[in-house]
Amino acid sequence: MPELPEVEALSRSLDRDLAGRSVERVVIRSVAVLKTYDPPAAALQGRTVSGAQRMGKFIDIELSSLHLVVHLARAGWLRVLPEAGETRPTLRGPLAARITFADGGALDVSEQGTEKRLALYVVRNPADVVGVARLGIDACDPELTAECLGGLLHAASGTIKSALADQSLVAGIGNAYSDEILHAARISPFRTAARLGDAEIQRLHHSMRRVLSDAIARALEVDPGQLRDSKRGSMSVHGRTGQPCPVCGDIVREVSLATRSFQYCATCQTGGKVYADRRLSRLLR
Ligand SMILES: [Zn+2]
Repeated sequence: MPELPEVEALSRSLDRDLAGRSVERVVIRSVAVLKTYDPPAAALQGRTVSGAQRMGKFIDIELSSLHLVVHLARAGWLRVLPEAGETRPTLRGPLAARITFADGGALDVSEQGTEKRLALYVVRNPADVVGVARLGIDACDPELTAECLGGLLHAASGTIKSALADQSLVAGIGNAYSDEILHAARISPFRTAARLGDAEIQRLHHSMRRVLSDAIARALEVDPGQLRDSKRGSMSVHGRTGQPCPVCGDIVREVSLATRSFQYCATCQTGGKVYADRRLSRLLR
């Protein structure tokens, strides 16, 4: 799933590629993808894109007083085509929507796989999207100081792993980057968020900034079409079960939950303690 760094890079490329282009036609090919009905998607036709920006893990494309808000979920993606031409979308395949511009180009919205979670919203105000209205402070917001982060975590319930990925607490971080941030900060994902000490909060804040800014810098170097796959290569623990930790050489461990799994290094993060999956699956749900 794309998280803050990939969505940031994608948003910037959309801002660059789409600003000033006017929409000729909107075709929603998968009805389930469009989560709003008023205004209708056709209301985007004839409008000019003024820009695109990231909000948490959402992308907001602004079109003269209307907004197309996109949540890519696990397997969604946006692709700008210089020429839509005669390449008619096929009936089968991952294309969920196509926006054709007056200059002949297009924006394709697609989703791989069988789990359909991609969401499009046509709204007058981005805050009309419940998920956007619920977003907490952005993980890259300069106002999110270590003190501010500490205050949020001390009021949170559950583990630090869940708290970091809670969009209503801090926006933009998901399963992958929370693994990476906790590993960089040498904090166990199983710790209770509210019980972290000041020195740990400082480390966590520093790691959060560094992991995200490094990942954004890398994402900006990658062709937008490759972003979805490129993040995996630079991970220290996430998605690397059984491989050596790049810091200490211990084996990266995995916890499997019903719908996802996450990784940590016992030596770097838990004082060598290896946790059994089954018990944690219940604790972390
Ligand atoms: Zn390690």
